[in-house]
Amino acid sequence: MLKGKTALVTGSTSGIGLGIAKALAQQGANIVLNGFGDTEGPKAEVAAMGVKVAYHAADMSKPAEIEDMMKFAAAQFGRVDILVNNAGIQHVARIENFPIERWDAIMAINLSSAFHATRLALPAMQAADWGRIINIASIHGLVGSAEKSAYVAAKHGVVGLTKVTALENATSGVTCNAICPGWVLTPLVQKQVDAKAVTLGISVEEATKQLLAEKEPSMQFTTPQELGALAVFFCSPAANNVRGVTWNMDGGWTAQ
Ligand code: NAD
Repeated sequence: MLKGKTALVTGSTSGIGLGIAKALAQQGANIVLNGFGDTEGPKAEVAAMGVKVAYHAADMSKPAEIEDMMKFAAAQFGRVDILVNNAGIQHVARIENFPIERWDAIMAINLSSAFHATRLALPAMQAADWGRIINIASIHGLVGSAEKSAYVAAKHGVVGLTKVTALENATSGVTCNAICPGWVLTPLVQKQVDAKAVTLGISVEEATKQLLAEKEPSMQFTTPQELGALAVFFCSPAANNVRGVTWNMDGGWTAQ
């Protein structure tokens, strides 16, 4: 379905981003990966789908590096047809104890990077009259949780940015939508499970159960594969008129 298209997924060396990159590759899209840590493993996993893969190491907190990555993607594959704004970090602390440097980093990586990548991707999408921008927000783009001020503020911002991007391009073939996952067992969440186990003096298994029980009636994690399938749907012709939505995959978190 996406043969000949190019997808750039930020923060795709791990977790949800890698799951989405693989799902888009499975549909034939060439992929630009980004993110830290091991890059050879993710590159090989995507290449195994029979598509072309490139990697750019842009630090998504730095606008100049984002600009460099967008130029690199265009030079490699002609243009970016699908942009998935996914890179994100977390820090958990009450507001009065929240480190200023963590607040600034979360705003830059979880929110401003989506603005920068979007503004740089839009002109080529508009010229082609086709584009898909998928913002990985979170259920925390819709509701709050204590001790996550920066993350919740940034993700609410991503939801707002999604709506404005969708509206500004509403009469064109460029759509923008947000995916709002509940808990997904990636390194980002594993850190929170491990911290809970230590704080409460319980096993990691018990901490996992408690984490789910607090928020998700389904008592199940959403998987990167499920999120990848939703991203593929947003890229399909059936989603041509899906514009500015926030689509939850949250095990019932926000139905309560
Ligand atoms: P993860 O830690 O597995 O992956 C994060 C990715 O972002 C990695 O590839 C990492 O290298 C990259 N990254 C981090 N800082 C970066 C930077 N400065 N520049 C470039 N890349 C950077 O986390 P994940 O759970 O897969 O999270 C992906 C996205 O999904 C995030 O935006 C997160 O907020 C969102 N999300 C996660 C969950 C969850 O439960 N895991 C739920 C809702 C939303």
